[in-house]
Amino acid sequence: MDFDRAASLRTKPLIDPFERPITYLRVSVTDRCDFRCVYCMAENMSFLPKQDLLSLEELDRVCTGFVMRGVRKLRLTGGEPLVRRGIIGLVQSLSRHLASGALDELTLTTNGSQLPKYASELKAHGVERINVSLDTLDADKFRAITRWGELDKVLAGIDAAQAAGLKVKINAVALRGVNEDELPTLLRWAHSRGMDLTIIEVMPLGDIDEDRLQQYLPLSIVRARLAERFTFDDIDYRTGGPARYVRVKETGGRLGFITPLTHNFCESCNRVRLTCTGTLYMCLGQEDAADLRAPLRASEANELLNVAIDAAIARKPKGHDFVIDRRHRRPALARHMSVTGG
Ligand code: SAM
Repeated sequence: MDFDRAASLRTKPLIDPFERPITYLRVSVTDRCDFRCVYCMAENMSFLPKQDLLSLEELDRVCTGFVMRGVRKLRLTGGEPLVRRGIIGLVQSLSRHLASGALDELTLTTNGSQLPKYASELKAHGVERINVSLDTLDADKFRAITRWGELDKVLAGIDAAQAAGLKVKINAVALRGVNEDELPTLLRWAHSRGMDLTIIEVMPLGDIDEDRLQQYLPLSIVRARLAERFTFDDIDYRTGGPARYVRVKETGGRLGFITPLTHNFCESCNRVRLTCTGTLYMCLGQEDAADLRAPLRASEANELLNVAIDAAIARKPKGHDFVIDRRHRRPALARHMSVTGG
């Protein structure tokens, strides 16, 4: 490739075929996790061989490549991002893009278990807000949902995050017959601590030894039930993600809904997802993916990587078509959320 073309490609903004600018990259830094949430993983998961993983330096290189192409928000996820060895080094290194102004936000989604250890370091390296996944405040239920998790540790993690000055948003997956009755409690609790709450519809991703139809609870129902107790004012607050928010009059806090099944939010999709092995998914709900690891490893310069990124973005589909398949009771996609990152 000639020098001029390579140089212009390095900074060319990423626009997909539907004129959507790609400004948000979610990176699953590991597929491993210290929990085994029933809707996310099977109890006996086989994880990717370590040699297939991108090194922290390679993750940095890909993220930096995307930042140079106009990505303004990076979210580290997993698996559990805070169980990846050396993760704070990656955060520290990526924070140079915050300092330079190239990046607006560096954030992560975590189950909270490692926050007592890492919250202050995250804050020190420029992380301002984090999402913590928490589906219940009942210790027994928590154990049943996460199989391996302990509620106390997560609550201590949330305390540590807030004490360190991180803004915390709670993400709860709505599960039929499991936490549906508890959502008003969760909402009051989150808002009383100054945290937004986002409720997520369960998505049919990955084989998980449980029955999806059993778990599935449409958020239209959740919302209608909550609206019997609380008053919602529509607001146009956006965080660059797919949640739609309301202000809850009684608590003053924000409540978000992420509804991939009952409401399609693809028209404003600005994101792509990178797995810890360097596979880029252009849509959470489609199988098509692009390998970025080979071009990354083939050359120390980023030309091949940029060509591969361009080719991938040119294939970003218009939207996803999740279906909870009533006849076959199989997941819509075989891949687990822990691979692509939630
Ligand atoms: N370990 C981190 C955590 O717990 O937040 C990050 C990864 S986790 C896969 C990200 C989010 O995806 C969590 O909020 C989790 O509840 C959600 N999640 C996992 N599987 C899901 C599914 N099938 N449907 C909806 N949400 C799911």
